[in-house]
Amino acid sequence: MTVLIQTDLIVIVCKHCGVLYGMPNELWNSFGSTRFCPNGHMPTYGNSAADRIRSAEDREKQQCTRAETAERSNAALRGAIRRMKGSE
Ligand SMILES: [Zn+2]
Repeated sequence: MTVLIQTDLIVIVCKHCGVLYGMPNELWNSFGSTRFCPNGHMPTYGNSAADRIRSAEDREKQQCTRAETAERSNAALRGAIRRMKGSE
């Protein structure tokens, strides 16, 4: 069984080991300043205003990318439907 789940995560890259990890925004905020990477390194970034702005910008870029991808997919589907109707 395959389950597809879509959710928003804050994505963090550890400055010490380079591991990329993510967590839900609520969990990220609940940890306050005691966050560690999965390998146990001290947090690279705090929850400063600059970090929050950067995260918000990253989320906005991801949403724009998803919307653009969906629009291209929809356009391709519309073209395929037109071609199928034209060949009938
Ligand atoms: Zn690390």
